[in-house]
Amino acid sequence: MHADAVSYVCRRLHADAPRKARPRRAVFPEASQEGWFCTHQRMMLSPKPVVPLVIHSLPLGPFETNAWVLLPARGSVTVVDPGMEPQALLDLLQELGRPVERILLTHGHLDHVAGCAALRRHWDCSIHLHPEDLFLYRSLVEHGAWYGFQLEAAPENTQPLAHGLRFAVGDEELEVLATPGHSPGSVCLRMESETGPALVCGDTLFAGAFGRTDLPGGSFRTLKASVLREIFTLSGATRLLPGHGPSTTVEVERRGNPLLMLDEGDEG
Ligand SMILES: [Zn+2]
Ligand SMILES: [Zn+2]
Repeated sequence: MHADAVSYVCRRLHADAPRKARPRRAVFPEASQEGWFCTHQRMMLSPKPVVPLVIHSLPLGPFETNAWVLLPARGSVTVVDPGMEPQALLDLLQELGRPVERILLTHGHLDHVAGCAALRRHWDCSIHLHPEDLFLYRSLVEHGAWYGFQLEAAPENTQPLAHGLRFAVGDEELEVLATPGHSPGSVCLRMESETGPALVCGDTLFAGAFGRTDLPGGSFRTLKASVLREIFTLSGATRLLPGHGPSTTVEVERRGNPLLMLDEGDEG
């Protein structure tokens, strides 16, 4: 039982990250037969099994932007991309009865950040986004007006996201992957959920589609490179949780996403 728990954790940490150093094969006779095994981690782990996250999603606002609530077995929650018209999200959070510790933003577009101010009124939570997207985050009111929306300014005092940064969410941990292209500061968030490995991927990749690259700071060449480097190298079973539309998996998108059919020279 203990070996299974250890094997599970080590797979979580390593098996779906081939860009990192390949961990060693299992060398302990009691270890599970499946997967790779990291003896270093095994030494450090407590026998307590890790409880994966429950991930709630809610499509919010006129763009039906998916907001994500990362709910650990105990303790405060993390919210990803609180979008426009966040009342349903506020209702869910009140129902869960847990404080919001932080907001993580996959990028700075208005439909992903417009709910930050409303959440900040209820919880003293930190807000994190990649510095390359601050120019979008700070233009929320102006960009809203272009679309005919009256939006509240995004709160100041954000904290920077960077590639490789990790956050503890309850007993779990999530990792930030920099995936520029849809916007210069787009990131994805890799974690282990109750149903296996998951990646909250913002507007970088969708089920059967990918994020537009004709907005300020966008680049098709950069987006394709990000997807090939950071997403398509994950295990095929990794669930992709995009900023709009239904979830998919790395395996499905690696087989048929139209991004693969387009040349890197097809800018725009
Ligand atoms: Zn976007
Ligand atoms: Zn979006």
